[in-house]
Amino acid sequence: MNHVVWDWNGTLVDDLPIVVESVNAALAAIGEAAIDEHDYREHFTRPVDQFYVRLLERPIPDEEWFALDRVFHERYLTALDRIPLTGDAIEAIDAVEARGWSQSILSMWWEEDLTACVERRGLAERMTLIQGNRDDAGGEKAAHLLRHLTKLDVDAASVVMIGDSLDDAAAASVVGTACILYDGGSHHRTHLEDAGVPVTDTLTAAVFVAAELVR
Ligand SMILES: [Mg+2]
Repeated sequence: MNHVVWDWNGTLVDDLPIVVESVNAALAAIGEAAIDEHDYREHFTRPVDQFYVRLLERPIPDEEWFALDRVFHERYLTALDRIPLTGDAIEAIDAVEARGWSQSILSMWWEEDLTACVERRGLAERMTLIQGNRDDAGGEKAAHLLRHLTKLDVDAASVVMIGDSLDDAAAASVVGTACILYDGGSHHRTHLEDAGVPVTDTLTAAVFVAAELVR
């Protein structure tokens, strides 16, 4: 059976404005100026501490990184009620199911918060696995994707990862799964296109393209 691994933030949920708001709360906590969505898309990378290095063009001492990470998550959690599902998320999940494929969520967001959020939106029973981050603040996704596929016990060649960030494409490349990038906000479109995988404007288009990547 083929399988879709969904990213959560910026993919199934449309949270870019809240992410930028949370980054700005974090920056304020270390006395730095606010940014806008353009700045975020221009500089975002993983590991996330490197995002702040790129953005501020200076080293980030550990104590600042801990403050940035803590304040970001605190602010993000206060805004959960304002974060909508992406416009065609349900339609895209329906389309995967209609094809007879299984699907799961792999996020670098904290697992407890992720699971509660997915459940609250009624999507938990649609997913064979919901996996977040337990111990790797701001880390890269590749090792997590490997663990995800091992838990699912699926062949990497039957898997399509759908995410919105270059780190999703990098993880897929390391693990050997197909990947489609949805233009959901983490990066400028031209940067997504540099990743060398299909880029789509909608999640339903991504599911449509997925069928061409696995057989
Ligand atoms: Mg994402």
